[in-house]
Amino acid sequence: MDKIQLKAYAKINIGLDVIKKLENGYHEVKMIMQTISLHDTLVLERSSTPGIVLETDHETLPADSSNLAYRAAELLFDAYSLNGGVKIYLKKRIPIAAGMAGGSADAAAVLRGMNEMFGLDVPRQELMKLAVKLGADVPYCIVGGTYLAEGIGERLTRTAPMPECFILAAKPAVCVSTKWVYDNLHADSLKEHPDIDRMLREIEAGNLKGLAGCMDNVLQNVTCKKYPVVLEIIKKMEACGAQKAMMSGSGPTVFGLFCSEMQMQEAYEQLRAEAVIQDLFLCRIQHAYFESEE
Ligand code: ATP
Repeated sequence: MDKIQLKAYAKINIGLDVIKKLENGYHEVKMIMQTISLHDTLVLERSSTPGIVLETDHETLPADSSNLAYRAAELLFDAYSLNGGVKIYLKKRIPIAAGMAGGSADAAAVLRGMNEMFGLDVPRQELMKLAVKLGADVPYCIVGGTYLAEGIGERLTRTAPMPECFILAAKPAVCVSTKWVYDNLHADSLKEHPDIDRMLREIEAGNLKGLAGCMDNVLQNVTCKKYPVVLEIIKKMEACGAQKAMMSGSGPTVFGLFCSEMQMQEAYEQLRAEAVIQDLFLCRIQHAYFESEE
């Protein structure tokens, strides 16, 4: 196989808790991850000329060795002493630095795609071990679907699938530094924590309303204090009928869960004119990449 096209799905956090700050500066987290249908598209092409060539349609994203898609290819070339080269075309749709793990999803897609295209047959668990070198969310982005992520986000347990729902994702025109949010959380003195175990039970029971009643993201208050527009969008989304609206990751993207496609469409029509929203996406729940093999 010389060419392959892949989708790299964005994720949202159905729940996000930070347990403590670790001595190495990372944070121990407990999160529920969910892939959604919003995706980047990657085309990988094998070439006999050695080296990695990356092109992207995004105006400001660097297409050099600082790009996670490039670094993923480099990692596989080094780890398995591959011959030849690869050309990667990356079509970006997932907003950058938005709390939706777009970079991690691209990196994971390159790992999955090159594994197939070069006929490496690297087992999924091994690919995931390698993936963590690129970032804590990359192993999850290899599998996708609904997962509990612990440790620094790399310790994964598959959960029951997310109850059927429709998702509106809204990104305001602000950029949020993940590092700044974690630095300002003061994880060790938090008095209240989201009840991730209860969320898991509601998912297991397939109870969307029950889940909506206990969803929480411990980073949301930190981001909202500096960027009140995030809270503004959450309120607008709930006023438009979302069962729950919440920030994903460290933000600034807000997502709303809707019971029906029609309710989501109606909310979309109301929110699309809002000046504070830069990007608005109609999404569905996206199941695991390897669903058919499970
Ligand atoms: P997370 O939810 O994992 O915190 P994020 O959605 O907030 O991720 P990304 O879009 O993955 O953030 O981008 C974070 C940083 O990674 C940006 O500063 C960006 O320049 C860099 N980056 C490198 N490669 C990519 C890529 N392929 N796509 C997006 N960002 C990339």
